[in-house]
Amino acid sequence: MQPQVSDAIILRHVDYGEADRIVTFFTPDHGLCKGFARAARKSRKRFGPGLESFAKVRMHWSASASGGLLTLREIDLLDLHVGIRSDLDAIALAGYGCELVEEMVGDDPGHPQIYRLLEAFLGELAAKGSSASARLLFELRLLDDIGYLPHLLHCSDCFGPLSVDPVAFDPARGGSLCHACAPVLSKLLLSRATLGSLSRILRSPVTAFAEIHLGATTLREGGGVVQAAIQAHLRRPLRALDFLQKIQSP
Ligand SMILES: [Zn+2]
Repeated sequence: MQPQVSDAIILRHVDYGEADRIVTFFTPDHGLCKGFARAARKSRKRFGPGLESFAKVRMHWSASASGGLLTLREIDLLDLHVGIRSDLDAIALAGYGCELVEEMVGDDPGHPQIYRLLEAFLGELAAKGSSASARLLFELRLLDDIGYLPHLLHCSDCFGPLSVDPVAFDPARGGSLCHACAPVLSKLLLSRATLGSLSRILRSPVTAFAEIHLGATTLREGGGVVQAAIQAHLRRPLRALDFLQKIQSP
C-alpha cells in the first residue's frame, strides 16, 4: 500500500501483546487515525519516545489491505512537550483536551484548524502549565470549529436582543435566552459582559493563548456555560474529565 506521511499529535496508546502498541493520533488532513506499531516497545530506533501521548510527531504509515488499523512505519519526534510530563495538573488538562478532540471529531476527515488549536494548546501547557484560561480558550474554540457554538449575543429562541442582566443560558435550547424566553428559574445565568468576552475570544487566532487575559468572572461564568454546551454534545462521559475534576477538587 502507498506510504503516507503527516504531522500528527499522539492522543493515546494501548499496549498490545508482548511488545506492540495501538496508537490513536490526530492529523490535520486525515483527522483521527488509529495504527498498529509492531514491536514498538522494543524498537527504540523506529519509534523512540514518539508514541507517548501529547507528542507532536511526523508519522509514517501505510494503510492495511483489510482496511483495519493502519500500519505505523516510523516516527520523527518533533516535540515531546516535556513540560507537560512532570506536572500532574498539566497532564490532566492535556489528557482532557485530547479525549475531547477524539470524541468531538469522531470520523470526520480533515480538521486543520482543530489540529492547530490542539497543537497550540499542548504547547501552552508545556510552556506555562495548566490554567483555567487555557482550558476555556481551548473548549470555546473547539466548540466553534466543530460547529457546535451556542448562540451567545442574541436569544437562541426568538433571536431578539439580550437587554437585561443576568442572561439565562440553556444548551438544550441553543444557548442564551432573552428575559421573555427564559424560564423563571434558570440554572445557568451569566452577564452580558461575559458573553461579550466569549464572543471576542472567537475573533482571536486559535493559536493565541499567552496573549489573552481573562478575568475571574469570565472564567467562572464562561467556564460554566461552555462546559454545559460541551456536555450537551457528548455521547459518553469523558474519563479524562473525571480525572481532571478529581485532582482539582480541594
Ligand atoms: Zn427570546
